[in-house]
Amino acid sequence: MTQITPQPGIMDIALYQGGAAHVDGVSNVTKLSSNENPLGPSPAAVEAMAEAAATMHRYPSSDHATLRAAIAETHGLDAERIICGAGSDEIIAFLCQCYAGPGDEVLYTEHGFAMYRISALAAGATPVEVKERERVTDVDALLAGCTAQTKLVFIANPNNPTGTMISEAEVARLADGIPEDAILVLDGAYAEYVEGFDAGAQLIAARNNVVMTRTFSKIYGLGGARVGWAYGPQEIIDVLNRVRGPFNVSTTALAGAEAAVRDTDYVQRCRLENAKWRGWLADQLAELGVPSDTSCTNFILARFASQSEAESCDDFLKQRGLIVRRVAGYNLPTALRITIGDETACRAVAAAVKDFKAGAA
Ligand code: PMP
Repeated sequence: MTQITPQPGIMDIALYQGGAAHVDGVSNVTKLSSNENPLGPSPAAVEAMAEAAATMHRYPSSDHATLRAAIAETHGLDAERIICGAGSDEIIAFLCQCYAGPGDEVLYTEHGFAMYRISALAAGATPVEVKERERVTDVDALLAGCTAQTKLVFIANPNNPTGTMISEAEVARLADGIPEDAILVLDGAYAEYVEGFDAGAQLIAARNNVVMTRTFSKIYGLGGARVGWAYGPQEIIDVLNRVRGPFNVSTTALAGAEAAVRDTDYVQRCRLENAKWRGWLADQLAELGVPSDTSCTNFILARFASQSEAESCDDFLKQRGLIVRRVAGYNLPTALRITIGDETACRAVAAAVKDFKAGAA
C-alpha cells in the first residue's frame, strides 16, 4: 500500500501540551497553568455573549466590523488595519502561511511562544531559535541571526514564559535592523498588563514592516471564546485577510470581545489586582529562596536550584490542588511558571512553597 505522508516539516511538530486542568485523586484544584485571568471576563462581556447566543443559528459577521470599530476606538487605531482571528494563534498561523514557505526562515527567541515554531513548520519554513540574554530578548542576537532567508521575526513583548520585556527603543532598533523584506511581529498577548504600553502601535504608524498581535485570552478573561487580533500596515492586513476563513470568529466571541474591550474600567481593575498579587507572590517566593525575574505579565517564572527541585515542588503543589506549569519544553527545566491567581490562590501557593521548602530542607 502507498504510504501517505504529510508535508515536510509536519512530523517535526510535537503535539502542543496545554496547561493541565486536573490532578488525579485531587478534587478541589486551582488552575494556574495557562495565564488565565482569575477574575474571569467582564460581567458586560458575559451578558453580551448570553444575548448573542440566541442568534447562533445565523453565521457570524464575516468582516468583524463592529468588533474592529470597538478595538480601534479604544486603542486609537485605524479599524481598516485590524484583522480578527480565532485567538492570536490563528493570526500567527496566517502570518507564517502568507509570508514564509520552504527555504524561508522564521526567527524567534529561545524561550519564545510555542506557536511560532509550530506555525513556521506548518508553513514549510525553517524555524530558527535565537539565544536570549539572561531570559531577556536579545536584539543583537536576533539581528545577528537574520539572513537573506529571514521572512518573519517574532518576539513577544512582554514574553511568555519569561515574563520579561524590552524597551520601545530596543524594539525600534530591531525593526530598523531586520532585512528589508522581513516582517517584525510584536506579540502583545500580555501588553495590557503593562500600564500605558501601546504594544508597538506607534512604531507601526511609522513603518511598513511591523505587525502587532493581541489577544482577548489574557487580561480580558476570554480564553474560552478564542478571539485575537492584529494591527499592521494595510497591505499586510489585506494579505492576511485572503487566507482567513469568512466566519473564523464566532458570534458569541465577537459580542463578548466587543463588550470586553469597551469595559476599560474592568481591565484597569484586573491590571491593578494582578500587579498587587504578582509583587506579593514574587517577594514571598524570593524570601523562600525561589527567585524570579521582574515580571511584566500575569505570571512569574519561579526559578529553583535544580530540575529535580522544580519537579518535586510541582508535585507538592499538585497534591495541594495547585496546578502550575512545567516549562522544560521551553528549555527552562529548573523553573515553574505560576499564573497570578486571586488572593486566595497566591496565598495558597506561597504557603505550599514554604511547606515544600521546610520539608525539603
Ligand atoms: N502569544 C503568547 C505570547 C501567548 O502566551 C499566547 C497564549 N498562551 C498566545 C500568543 C496565544 O493566545 P490566543 O491564541 O489565546 O490568543
